Amino acid sequence: MKTVLVTGGAGFIGSNFVKYMLNQHPDYKIVNLDVLTYAGNLENLSDIEENKNYVFAKGDIADRPFVQDLFEKYDFDTVVNFAAESHVDRSIEDPEIFVQTNVMGTLVLLDEAKNHWQTGKDENGYPTYREGVRYHQVSTDEVYGALGKTGMFTETTPIAPNSPYSASKASADLVVRSYGQTFKLPVTISRCSNNYGPYHFPEKLIPLMISNVIALKSLPVYGDGMQIRDWLHVKDHCSGIDTILEKGVAGEVYNIGGNNEKANIEIVNLIIENVGEKLRTGKYDIDNDGSKISKDLITYVEDRLGHDRRYAIDNTKITTKLGWKPSYTFEEGIVETIEWYLNNQEWLERVKSGGYKEYYENMYSKK
Ligand code: NAD
Repeated sequence: MKTVLVTGGAGFIGSNFVKYMLNQHPDYKIVNLDVLTYAGNLENLSDIEENKNYVFAKGDIADRPFVQDLFEKYDFDTVVNFAAESHVDRSIEDPEIFVQTNVMGTLVLLDEAKNHWQTGKDENGYPTYREGVRYHQVSTDEVYGALGKTGMFTETTPIAPNSPYSASKASADLVVRSYGQTFKLPVTISRCSNNYGPYHFPEKLIPLMISNVIALKSLPVYGDGMQIRDWLHVKDHCSGIDTILEKGVAGEVYNIGGNNEKANIEIVNLIIENVGEKLRTGKYDIDNDGSKISKDLITYVEDRLGHDRRYAIDNTKITTKLGWKPSYTFEEGIVETIEWYLNNQEWLERVKSGGYKEYYENMYSKK
């Protein structure tokens, strides 16, 4: 029996991870700490509300007394930190909250983990910790900056973030590293490529495009659309993190990626084709028969400032040293994801209208 603190568990990847862990480890207790920003949606977790091994705690990772109380109450063995401001475009508009949450919040979690887990000091003055504890930081390939036409990011690629978002994530990684080096806290870091899958907030490329195609709205594509990203199904990201928790070595960084490099415009074209094909079958309860879906919906818009051209992840370390491999091909995963959005129109509508916030009010006012 382990007690795991998952932060940011009401977001896209965090909510998939909470469910993955409850499924995979029925003997674990999972405490989800989330402040519920615009990106946090408890409706993502409505199917596990009654699970006796799951607890939700509303709070800010940067709120030290709150985090300290939570450690005292639940005596965590493991921390997995997903909580973050995560949208590059928002970080260009308002960088400050990115530094506050992503850097200061990480510092508070590390400090409280260290204080709570410390058992004493060794002969050299380094803190010692109780057996089996681990702090895991969920990071991103964006900390490595951008690649040219060739090459891949390995774990030894120098950190060179280009956006305020990636700079805040890189800063957090360095603080995590320093706690491993200076205080010997058992830390690991994973750097993952772009995720896709169910419960993705529709401000990000794939859900935005699916949602706009369904609504016959224009599809805004940055610049020439030739920016290349490496895509991984969110469930494969979850299994990668779980593998690192089980087999990863403290102090190490692991890249997680699926060898699925795609240009943004390729993804948009694929979504247009696939959503159109599906809607033309008439099988879905959606007011769009697919006949007006075409590439004419694409609108090229001014490129994002400092837009990184290409990311690609070398996943050799996690695949060879820890035996992890992704279970989805991109072609299977994207079709399944499109199907999920077509079948979860109410979720999509509530997220787009902001109505999901009422879900929390209703749920918790009853308790
Ligand atoms: P998301 O924006 O969907 O979710 C973030 C969650 O964190 C939300 O539920 C939000 O309410 C919560 N949160 C924000 N500030 C908080 C605070 N101060 N205290 C507590 N909770 C707070 O993000 P996501 O796409 O699920 O990403 C999760 C993590 O994975 C992030 O750390 C991100 O950097 C990393 N990551 C994401 C991707 C990707 O493709 N989405 C890829 C690699 C790494």
